Amino acid sequence: MRFEKYVRPDNLSTAMDLLQADKNTVILGGNTFLRLSKMKYSTALDLSELGIDFIEEKKDVIEIGAYTSFRTIETNKVIKKYFDNLIVKSLENIIGVQFRNNATIGGSIMSRLGFSEILTALLVLDCDLEFAENGKIKLSEHLSKRKIRNDILKKIIIKKTNSKNSYQMIRNANSDFSILSVAVSRSNGLKIAVGTRPYIAKLSNSVKDLESINQDNVEKISAEIAEEFDYGDDLRAKSEYRKAIAPVLIKRALLEVL
Ligand SMILES: Cc1cc2nc3c(=O)[nH]c(=O)nc-3n(C[C@H](O)[C@H](O)[C@H](O)COP(=O)(O)OP(=O)(O)OC[C@H]3O[C@@H](n4cnc5c(N)ncnc54)[C@H](O)[C@@H]3O)c2cc1C
Repeated sequence: MRFEKYVRPDNLSTAMDLLQADKNTVILGGNTFLRLSKMKYSTALDLSELGIDFIEEKKDVIEIGAYTSFRTIETNKVIKKYFDNLIVKSLENIIGVQFRNNATIGGSIMSRLGFSEILTALLVLDCDLEFAENGKIKLSEHLSKRKIRNDILKKIIIKKTNSKNSYQMIRNANSDFSILSVAVSRSNGLKIAVGTRPYIAKLSNSVKDLESINQDNVEKISAEIAEEFDYGDDLRAKSEYRKAIAPVLIKRALLEVL
């Protein structure tokens, strides 16, 4: 990536003015993904002085500033207290600590990468995004609709629930990309997400009645859920392989939350 001008505003309103004044501005998160691109921009907008790197526990929700690094999140006491470490598990194997010190949750959510593990995990939680201009949007909506441009993601708001959660993934080696990931959350109902395929993470549409799942039928039900998703080929795995392991990961996750 190349750019002509670098700006680091110290408040959100100046940052938004700069962003909207020049459509060829790139927002910098941790710059881990952006730096690999060959794009040229007129301005690079650094978010580091905006005060959007924080984790706050409120009465009903946990708020994570968009500029918060993966490492800050995975080592935070509040994050570790909730959701059976679902969020931590989706981050702790990404490359290495130095990388995770840079990569931000906002950059991950905004780039909507197929191989993003945090998207799989957050999809099964009750998760809203708050943008400077577009206001609040559900994460699931952000992933299924057109990408929001020329706006700054401020924070991620996760509703606290008494849920039981599981995160399962497979990767060939530590620090490699994941080949497939599955997250399951059980509170009032059951939410199942499949991700890290060449496609963006997605929720299962068939809401299962948890009471009807037991040791005898869990394998069959897992296979049915796995059938709902498209898998795909990439450098890491063939679609047939992903298709074969999906029911296994779903079954493991279901058994963990049952
Ligand atoms: C070599 C490599 C291996 C990886 N392996 C994995 C893996 O195994 N699992 C996994 O889940 N992920 C993996 N990743 C993805 C990694 O998690 C992303 O690179 C990272 O999430 C991007 O975060 P960032 O803060 O560096 O974003 P950046 O690269 O800085 O930005 C990404 C995009 O988001 C936009 N953006 C950033 N912040 C905001 C904001 N607040 N508001 C609006 N737009 C914003 C930027 O303009 C850009 O378009 C890997 C990446 C690399 C480069």
